[in-house]
Amino acid sequence: MASIRPVMSHPAAASLWAAGAAPAAPTPPIEDACQADVLVVGGGYTGLSTALHLAQAGASVCVLEAHEPGWGASGRNGGQVNPTLKHDPDELAALLGARAEPLLDAIAGSADLVFELIARHRIDCAPVRAGWLQASYTPAGVPALHRRAQQWRDRGAAVDVLDRQAMVTRTGSDQFHGGWLDRRAGSIQPLSYARGLAAAALQAGARIHGASPVTDLRRDGRRWVATVAGGARVLSDQVVLATNGYSDGLWPGLARTILSANSFIVATPPLGAAAAHILAGGETLSTAQRLLVYLRKDAQGRLLMGGRGLFANPAGPADFAHVERALAQLYPALAPFQFEYRWGGRIAITRDFLPHVHRPAPGVTIALGYNGRGVATATAMGKHLAAWLTGGPEQDFPFPITTPSPIPLHGLQRFYISAGVAWYGLLDKLSG
Ligand SMILES: Cc1cc2nc3c(=O)[nH]c(=O)nc-3n(C[C@H](O)[C@H](O)[C@H](O)COP(=O)(O)OP(=O)(O)OC[C@H]3O[C@@H](n4cnc5c(N)ncnc54)[C@H](O)[C@@H]3O)c2cc1C
Repeated sequence: MASIRPVMSHPAAASLWAAGAAPAAPTPPIEDACQADVLVVGGGYTGLSTALHLAQAGASVCVLEAHEPGWGASGRNGGQVNPTLKHDPDELAALLGARAEPLLDAIAGSADLVFELIARHRIDCAPVRAGWLQASYTPAGVPALHRRAQQWRDRGAAVDVLDRQAMVTRTGSDQFHGGWLDRRAGSIQPLSYARGLAAAALQAGARIHGASPVTDLRRDGRRWVATVAGGARVLSDQVVLATNGYSDGLWPGLARTILSANSFIVATPPLGAAAAHILAGGETLSTAQRLLVYLRKDAQGRLLMGGRGLFANPAGPADFAHVERALAQLYPALAPFQFEYRWGGRIAITRDFLPHVHRPAPGVTIALGYNGRGVATATAMGKHLAAWLTGGPEQDFPFPITTPSPIPLHGLQRFYISAGVAWYGLLDKLSG
């Protein structure tokens, strides 16, 4: 029987999403086919949180990750821990009716969950809980943000409505006309958080294997048999597919249910006192237009600015020029900026902009589609999945369970994404 390789050190240790991150937890190699109650495919926040909570509940869990824990979006993201979905609470209630309430509760508590896990498992990931600013470049965009804040406040959330002056003071940029502050939110070093979740899951008894892409999954009697490249097999009663924007052909048709879009980030060198006025309170920032950009200052004082990517993976510094320009527009006095690091990662966009949970076959659960807001939501997803898979009532599971539905003409996703970027960019300009 072929062996399954253990977690390896990070293959991209030269880039920022790995530099400065907490070290990866080593796991011993296993030499034989692994038997588990639950096999989790994908070692990002969804898979790792599922594994941690399953193991804590006493289930035997095996995580197979094609590269290493945190290799996907979970190790590369903007580090914003935001307890919100793309939809506002009232919009969600109109969309989902009675099913909106449990989902809103799960989302509202998702940042608490992240920071509780960090504290309980002593995860070394530079956690800061100083809130998330969402800012409008235009006066016309401000009322919608104030309504959003009010909807969350009506639900008991700690939020502030901000006028132009308050936003200028907090962001250190005069480009904004107002917005809101969600005090529940915060930030983390994303890869360190992923590695910390992996370490906590290992500690709780889960097995995690990196460099283990699952290439085949089939039913054999009452069990599922997963085959890893190289031939090793894992037998399990249940399977959780947690592959999000990196979903491949493993589950037929799954990749066609999402658009796998790139998001790009650039990082300046540590700026010290020169940037002391930028997000001085430790907040994170997103802009509110359709093609949003997002910004935070890391523990070393770098500015990390993110925005839309190309459909293709980045080929060189020129591909990041639009994100770099957006940073210079916010802080012209500090321009031109130097950039130490540039990287990208894939998010999964769904047609309804909601996370998707599917049960396409007995014992198989799929969870994906966080639409670029997965740090807190995917962590919460894992906790709720674990409760459900260990016998919790289905009605307590807060995410809607839907049938996988392919996006029409998915083969054109490269075109959809480019056209969407152009269209949204035009709408942003017109509404400016
Ligand atoms: C650049 C960027 C910035 C972002 N910023 C933010 C932010 O600031 N705040 C926020 O909330 N969200 C943000 N997100 C989104 C967030 O990172 C994701 O929603 C979240 O990490 C999804 O976690 P996941 O575990 O579902 O998927 P991922 O972390 O992508 O993990 C999926 C894993 O599955 C593995 N895999 C795929 N196929 C196989 C297979 N066949 N066998 C084994 N393994 C497989 C992949 O290797 C990958 O590691 C951002 C994303 C990106 C890319």
